[in-house]
Amino acid sequence: MQAIIAAARDAAKLCQLVQEKYLVASAKSSGAQTEPVTIADYGSQAIICRALQAHYPRDAVVAEESGEQFLQLVTPEQRAQVLSLLTQILGEPVSEAELVAWLDFGVDRTAACTWVIDPIDGTKGFLARRHYVVAVGLLRAGQVSEGIVAAPGYKAGAGALFYTRDGATYRAPLAAGDGHKVTVSQRHKVEDYVAVQSYERYHASKSRMGRARDYAGLGNVKLLELDSMEKYALVACGDADLYMRLPREGSAYAHKIWDHVAGVALVQNAGGTITDLDGGPLDFSQGETLPNAGLIASNGARHQQVVEAVQRVMAE
Ligand code: AMP
Ligand code: MG
Repeated sequence: MQAIIAAARDAAKLCQLVQEKYLVASAKSSGAQTEPVTIADYGSQAIICRALQAHYPRDAVVAEESGEQFLQLVTPEQRAQVLSLLTQILGEPVSEAELVAWLDFGVDRTAACTWVIDPIDGTKGFLARRHYVVAVGLLRAGQVSEGIVAAPGYKAGAGALFYTRDGATYRAPLAAGDGHKVTVSQRHKVEDYVAVQSYERYHASKSRMGRARDYAGLGNVKLLELDSMEKYALVACGDADLYMRLPREGSAYAHKIWDHVAGVALVQNAGGTITDLDGGPLDFSQGETLPNAGLIASNGARHQQVVEAVQRVMAE
């Protein structure tokens, strides 16, 4: 995994460079903002897929972006910007043909090992300079196995890299250096409990999650709202105890596996519990989307209580 961890670090560096160079702080309109996202998304995915191609040439990939989209959507000026950033970070000249080939590496095949990539998870957070991550997960025979999550916004921008190895989860400095093992918290007292949920109100039902906390006796716990799979990382390292994602009323949104695999791996390997809304397992074996309507990730304490509270909310 060392090579893929290094690639995730490089990808996060590229995202940070794009924020510095191309994301104008005052640009609030969507028109002005599509450009930097595009550059960073494609650049980040290219770096990760390049490493996968070199080290895992027979594995399969499910990733959010594609080479075809790149050729359709990206202007010549943006293409030059991505290539220049990649050349700078990789320390070697990169051609457009190579970039497109990397973006599509491994997509048209099935294999026991499938890498699941979200080059920038939490795009809205990236644009607003809140939280976002670069995420690489690994499914083995449809089961969540490993995860790498580079989180530049962790701890007020100090950043961190989270990864799994040999059944444990580690946290390392974002830029370089070895990690230290982390585990989910031992907290079970309500006074100390910390819950996390999406910042964006269209991504999950804040009212349902609030009611579920109330019913579970967690009505007054500390609540943090942040974008991206960093929420899973916070549960994995014990900074938070509960992450719920309940669908908005009437929503039939199908969750994409790249928004979850890496994060689920962090929590599972750190000793946490992750279930569907009814307490059953999440199903990552059905292609690009999850059949599950939502999820509950926790340190295990009070998980069953939360499942029961969620069931009550969903029945209302
Ligand atoms: P978060 O910041 O945790 O809400 O996660 C961001 C991810 O939510 C993005 O990568 C989107 O793919 C995903 N997303 C977008 N729209 C929705 C939606 N309506 N419901 C649930 N998730 C969504
Ligand atoms: Mg995402």
